[in-house]
Amino acid sequence: MPRKLVVANWKMHGNLISNHQLMIDYLDRLSALNTVDVVVCVPYPYLAQAQSLLNGSVIAWGAQNLSKDSVGAFTGEVSANMLNDFGATYVIIGHSERATAYCESDENIAAKFMQAKSHGLTPILCVGETLIEREAGVMEMVVAKQIDTIINRYGAEIFSGAVVSYEPIWAIGTGLAATPDQAQSMHEFIRNRIASHNKEAASALKILYGGSVNPQNAVQLFRMQDIDGGLIGKCSLSAQEFEGVCRAAS
Ligand code: PEP
Repeated sequence: MPRKLVVANWKMHGNLISNHQLMIDYLDRLSALNTVDVVVCVPYPYLAQAQSLLNGSVIAWGAQNLSKDSVGAFTGEVSANMLNDFGATYVIIGHSERATAYCESDENIAAKFMQAKSHGLTPILCVGETLIEREAGVMEMVVAKQIDTIINRYGAEIFSGAVVSYEPIWAIGTGLAATPDQAQSMHEFIRNRIASHNKEAASALKILYGGSVNPQNAVQLFRMQDIDGGLIGKCSLSAQEFEGVCRAAS
């Protein structure tokens, strides 16, 4: 059975002191847990802190966003090369909180995905539907468009070695996680969608579930065939809770 992957998304939380403590607590609790891959995605100003505390440890780390452009007059943006400079290995792309608050289009997200891949970063592509879209029964259509925009632009091979995270928007930060069956059904849909273009890329693809995962519901979610791990927001801010999720994945 392939190893599961659990990714902490700290969002815009923390400071130098609290991050230091949280990373040390992660290391204390997770260093001996060698049956699961763990990643933490920190806010940009703390990349150097993650580099100095986590490099050489069992915990990989990365960023929560990157620019769709390589270099130039893009005030406030951070390029893939800059993430490379610090030794980041993962980057979250297209998180719905960004897509909503900063109007990121599927086309921009596709360009960011390409930036990550072409700079040796592992993209964690977030896809998912709103509650209205789920209630209207169009959730697969919505997710298909998010995936297809990338395939149509760059080909399905680009998903080789990448990570997709299914994050129903109605489940993020609400305490209302998708049921294991709801998540499994969408994960299978995503894998089949990519497999219809490239079987190898689809079978090696890690598809995470994100949205109100906690140590209790993680056990059932991670048992599902196409759920390869989780993207964890709120629970990742407590080392104890995060350890519980990682243990459920191990
Ligand atoms: C997320 O932000 O990716 C997320 C899944 O958040 P939460 O776990 O808090 O729902």
